[in-house]
Amino acid sequence: MRPAPVVIVGAGVMGASVAYHLTARGWRDVLLLDRSDGPGQGSTGVATGGFRAQYGTAINVRLSLLAREKLRRFQDEIGVDPGYLPAGYLWLAETRAELDGLHAGLKVQRAEGLHEATEVSVEEIGRISPAVRRDSVIGGTFCPTDGFIAPLQVLNGYLAAALRSGARVEWQTAVTGLIRDDHGSIIALETSRGRIATGAVVNACGAWAAELAGHGGVSLPVTPLRRQIAVTVPCSLLSPTTPMTIFVGDGFHFRVRDGRALLLWPNPGVPGKPFDVTVDREWIDMVAAMAHRRVPILRQVAIDIACCHAGLYEMSPDRHALLGPAPGCDNLFLINGSSGHGVMHAPALGQLLAEIMSDGVSSSLDVSALRPSRFKEGKPNSSAGPL
Ligand SMILES: Cc1cc2nc3c(=O)[nH]c(=O)nc-3n(C[C@H](O)[C@H](O)[C@H](O)COP(=O)(O)OP(=O)(O)OC[C@H]3O[C@@H](n4cnc5c(N)ncnc54)[C@H](O)[C@@H]3O)c2cc1C
Repeated sequence: MRPAPVVIVGAGVMGASVAYHLTARGWRDVLLLDRSDGPGQGSTGVATGGFRAQYGTAINVRLSLLAREKLRRFQDEIGVDPGYLPAGYLWLAETRAELDGLHAGLKVQRAEGLHEATEVSVEEIGRISPAVRRDSVIGGTFCPTDGFIAPLQVLNGYLAAALRSGARVEWQTAVTGLIRDDHGSIIALETSRGRIATGAVVNACGAWAAELAGHGGVSLPVTPLRRQIAVTVPCSLLSPTTPMTIFVGDGFHFRVRDGRALLLWPNPGVPGKPFDVTVDREWIDMVAAMAHRRVPILRQVAIDIACCHAGLYEMSPDRHALLGPAPGCDNLFLINGSSGHGVMHAPALGQLLAEIMSDGVSSSLDVSALRPSRFKEGKPNSSAGPL
């Protein structure tokens, strides 16, 4: 049995960020294991690349502000451009209740120091995202420092930086068992390439996190949820700096990436097949019809069926991350359940988990709102408004 003092299972953006932040704090012999063939084959590789600090809870705003600060220094610290493009996030309300929800979110954001997020009138919306039809829109909010990042550049940047500092990664290595001693601590991992003795395990398995925890008899409330993306053929009808534009009511949103419009609209996954990531042709037709109604200029642009794709969100019951030791298993560290916000929060969450693993507590931010025990305590987070 070979030894590794700390093993990170999952080398997506979360695992890479934890690996980098542990090595930066002086941890040696950090080992990353991933069952896929190389970086970006989990959810990180299919993420839309949105970045926002407009949230409805203090903890999510704080995570975004910490992440934003780290993204602004990423090139200097990590040596890779994270693709941070502050093109803004524009939320659109069509009813009074939706607008009230956005106002409630603004209050939380202001209290956390996000002063550049503001309410915008229908006229201002026309200037910010001119292609959007506004006849049903009654108002919205906009934050110019929200925008976009490049998920694979963030993942590859952290991974390369961790490897330069002595971490190792083994691809095509599935973890199939977590072996615990009489006190409940993990002492070894069973993998497709043999057993590894260890003192600490990080669960960075994204949408598959509950399966990994289950290998050690730990119950983790993280479930997969399919998200599909319809992609148009290349076109120059929309500006590359079009903000992420989102209708609060049904969640339809779009952005421009690499000269194509990406169209998204959340709907339930495939019944009985929670890990299914096939793209539903009927869904493509529906989202295209929504886009044609709300962004009429897109009627001129065909959908590129071959480029449409889907991936999995890693949902937690309150749509907030779980961070820290697993209840009942003090050396299984969780960085799970970001619920579709994981790329943007990975720079912050990786640093915070490295602090917890090193010092027993995080110093950059109070993350008690993310403690994994909150569901058993009956104290989940609740958002002001829909964000
Ligand atoms: C369509 C879509 C759009 C999204 N848009 C955004 C966005 O705009 N902004 C944003 O911030 N987030 C977005 N997300 C969410 C984001 O992709 C995730 O939150 C993030 O990628 C999670 O990172 P991760 O490292 O935890 O998971 P992953 O990238 O999925 O990595 C997990 C890794 O664990 C490995 N693994 C799992 N089980 C095992 C095992 N037993 N043994 C070994 N390896 C294992 C997998 O192979 C995988 O490589 C989007 C997601 C989807 C699907």
